[in-house]
Amino acid sequence: MDPIQCEGCGESTAGYDIISYGGMDSGYRQLCSRCFNAEVAKLNGLDDFENVRFEPIGIVDSVGEAHQFHFQVRLLGNIVALDAFELRDGTPSGYQFQMVGDPEEDLLALLGRLIEKIRRRLSVKYLTDAGHELQIAEQTVRGRIDWDESAVERTPLLVIDGREITWDDFGRMLMAFEGWQFKLEIFDRSEEA
Ligand SMILES: [Zn+2]
Repeated sequence: MDPIQCEGCGESTAGYDIISYGGMDSGYRQLCSRCFNAEVAKLNGLDDFENVRFEPIGIVDSVGEAHQFHFQVRLLGNIVALDAFELRDGTPSGYQFQMVGDPEEDLLALLGRLIEKIRRRLSVKYLTDAGHELQIAEQTVRGRIDWDESAVERTPLLVIDGREITWDDFGRMLMAFEGWQFKLEIFDRSEEA
């Protein structure tokens, strides 16, 4: 993904950090998240909003592998969303997390809570390489539902332990439990699954 020039500050910005801002009448501008947040803060009279940009942080998982997390702050009216994600080929991928807070609160405290959440998730592996193929390690799996663009039909691509698992592969893993029952619960990205 090529960098895009922010129409606010003019800074060359990664595509994932560009937000289309505006409306049908005024037209749209491609703004970096900081310029976007400044516009939203002005519109909502949030003079105290700290418009910060957090530097990437490396967090180690349960098998000692380091994951580099990038952050994006988006002010969305009366809430602020803080996203953490890994990048692959310049695009958010792998582990992704979100924490939602109050725009008036200290964003560092929000970041602290998000990092705690990341650490909790990275401390567990739900899949195991035991044997010659990937298997479900215990009896619980947590992950994210993405879209498998390589599939002909609209097919889920699951992201478990930060790795992409095709729907077919996950089906094969489930067959280790043939005849068992299961319970499926779905959570918003900002909730703790
Ligand atoms: Zn900008």
